[in-house]
Amino acid sequence: MTLSGKARLAGVMGWPVEHSLSPRLHGYWLEHHRIDGAYVPLAVGPEGLRAALSALPALGFRGVNLTLPHKEQALDLCHVVDDMARRIGAVNTVVVREGRLVGSNSDAFGFMENLKQGAPDWRAKASPAVVLGAGGASRAVVAALADAGAPEVRIVNRTRERAEALAEALAPWLGSALSAHGWDQRQAVLADAGLLVNATTLGMAGQASLDLDLGGLPPDALVTDIVYTPLMTPLLEAARARGNPLVDGLGMLLHQARPGFEAWFDVRPEVTTAVREFVLSA
Ligand code: NAP
Repeated sequence: MTLSGKARLAGVMGWPVEHSLSPRLHGYWLEHHRIDGAYVPLAVGPEGLRAALSALPALGFRGVNLTLPHKEQALDLCHVVDDMARRIGAVNTVVVREGRLVGSNSDAFGFMENLKQGAPDWRAKASPAVVLGAGGASRAVVAALADAGAPEVRIVNRTRERAEALAEALAPWLGSALSAHGWDQRQAVLADAGLLVNATTLGMAGQASLDLDLGGLPPDALVTDIVYTPLMTPLLEAARARGNPLVDGLGMLLHQARPGFEAWFDVRPEVTTAVREFVLSA
């Protein structure tokens, strides 16, 4: 669509930023909704983040998404940071409001919306969840599950101390029981679980695959992988082979973009098969 002089502006700041799928995704929604607006990639290095963020109001930007390596640094650069971003320890969405930068984090929302859409019958409250990994993404996943009322979240990580630190950091904010486990426990914790999440980098193209026997997992447990390259990771293939319900990780990426789009362009976009296919065809 041709832009007018009144076009609304948003974008994604990252370093590097050229691999980001966000311009393609937001561009699809802008076109689909015939919005006079643009969402652009902004290659901003770590040393330039402060200046780039503070220039947004003067440039008339409605806001930005933040990707690596800016999400943590932005906590100190926004005028206001919401509760979820504080909990997760990272900002991925910035909205300019009356000249001030308001930071939030939509990864937990994206994770949960993806499960709701992909497995509408699954209930977080029904049984314990197992989360593999204790990095940045795991933090959002654990916060989302605890918020959704999971009775117990078992965090399993190669470096057990990181799982312990994550459980300890999130415990004051959450009602769920959080427990930390070392990698050697990854099979044992599957018994009676209602959800298994891979939030490690294992299974991603170019990385080692996840070495996990699903034998002890209840047959009706939902399996999800937040890695989405490839879409059907070895974990999801294994779940499919034994008949467990599964949800792939692309939807988390698509759903986490919705709150930002709505704040900047005043339309709540949907995650449809068409937008999934469009993003996948990049
Ligand atoms: P991160 O902070 O670097 O954390 C990596 C995690 O993987 C850590 O828990 C690490 O364990 C574990 N790990 C790495 N190599 C391992 C190995 N050989 N054996 C066992 N564990 C290993 O990464 P992140 O930001 O959390 O991202 C994790 C994945 O999620 C990435 O693939 C990312 O692309 C994906 N992601 C997807 C979405 C989405 O929207 N779908 C959103 C965010 C992230 P240690 O602590 O022991 O090192």
